[in-house]
Amino acid sequence: MIRFEQVSKQFPNGTFAVKSLDFEIKKGEFFVLIGPSGSGKTTTLKMINRLIELSKGWVWINGKKISDYDINELRWNIGYVLQQIALFPHMSIAENIAIVPELVNWDKEKIAARADELLKMVGLDPKEYRNRKPSELSGGQQQRVGVIRALAADPEIILMDEPFSALDPFSREKLQDDLLEIQRKLKKTIVFVTHDMQEALKLGDRICLMKDGEIVQIGTPHEFLTNPVNDFVREFVGIRK
Ligand code: ATP
Repeated sequence: MIRFEQVSKQFPNGTFAVKSLDFEIKKGEFFVLIGPSGSGKTTTLKMINRLIELSKGWVWINGKKISDYDINELRWNIGYVLQQIALFPHMSIAENIAIVPELVNWDKEKIAARADELLKMVGLDPKEYRNRKPSELSGGQQQRVGVIRALAADPEIILMDEPFSALDPFSREKLQDDLLEIQRKLKKTIVFVTHDMQEALKLGDRICLMKDGEIVQIGTPHEFLTNPVNDFVREFVGIRK
């Protein structure tokens, strides 16, 4: 579904953020990008929705090069969740959720029903929460809205860049569980960036460990635990020799 072929990114200052990436993410897969700071995770993620343009190679989505998509069509089909909670403070929760569905011309009733359905999915009673402003929600609740907002117009792909790392451990665990439940129900293709191996092992169908802009290992959580390819992976997974 998403295929990277010999993809490199060099920024204008000369930094090679990623080097010749080759991998494929399957439809409906929960794919986790992990690695130390500066290893190229965010650059890889942002090349999928063209927030960063690649320097060499090709990225394909559903067999079509991303450069051949209309940019709006591409971005509407890709939900995006950031670490910083990015709700619009002057808009209600329902209005925040409605932004993308309105852009793609869903009718009002369909949008309202979708917002209520999504709020319920993450345990927020629509009657109580739909008209509140973001400041009237806790950080964890706001990030829950951030997650469902990315799902609102029913995109095929969701990109998530350390979406839970600013949360307390309890909220974080709850949101991880919510996300797994959403994934089980909706079968989205999720690309998820994290620093946290426990989070990767819990959420990922497959994990891609990066270092210095290159892929060190791609595999299932089980493969990482039972068959790490080298000492770097072993250390990252927390296995003592
Ligand atoms: P972190 O976990 O700290 O967010 P990351 O693995 O997501 O890191 P990237 O943000 O992809 O890493 O950065 C990869 C490399 O590219 C780093 O060396 C970074 O300094 C560099 N880099 C990222 N963005 C730019 C930019 N706009 N201009 C120049 N260099 C950049």
